[in-house]
Amino acid sequence: MFDSWESTVAVVVAVLIAYGVVLWLGTVVWVYRDIRSRTQDGWTQAVSVLLVVIFNLPGLFLYLVLRPQETLNDTYERRLEAEALMRDMPEPHAACPTCKRSVGQDYLVCPNCSTALREACSNCSRPLELNWSTCPFCASDGPKGKAKRGAESAPPSLSASKSEPPRAAAPPPRAAPMKNASSTAAKSPESAVESLWRRIVG
Ligand SMILES: [Zn+2]
Ligand SMILES: [Zn+2]
Repeated sequence: MFDSWESTVAVVVAVLIAYGVVLWLGTVVWVYRDIRSRTQDGWTQAVSVLLVVIFNLPGLFLYLVLRPQETLNDTYERRLEAEALMRDMPEPHAACPTCKRSVGQDYLVCPNCSTALREACSNCSRPLELNWSTCPFCASDGPKGKAKRGAESAPPSLSASKSEPPRAAAPPPRAAPMKNASSTAAKSPESAVESLWRRIVG
């Protein structure tokens, strides 16, 4: 009788201990997983797990109060959303610089005050920003590129070859067109990249 009472107590104690161990292990594993989804900082992870290893349920309660609010997934999604918002924002040229009325992305002049906003490409007729040196659509000279080319070739006699290529080939039979062609070839890829970059950066 006494013997069986003692053994009953022993079984109950064993069950309670097993329950405690499982609970303890469960909370430790749960906290380990949870903190890993919230931070990549090794120290924070170690301290969080130790807190629960040592204090268990009170430690778990403390952990729930102190843990980082956002999981790494939340942070990542928020960043993606912010980037998408930035992409959807209207471009800075949507208003006339003079009268501030809103203008279309492809207007050449402001319909309200006639301010020049863009210049049509001399080759493909698409609207080009005034500070573009190359047309991004057909890679011919843009408004700025033309002005720069005209300015730098004005002093020497090469200016004639610039304004009228077929006729200017006469005085220096080969040198002028070759030089012109090579300089265009060397210049246009670089300035195309440059203008593209300017367009991305804003
Ligand atoms: Zn205007
Ligand atoms: Zn063009």
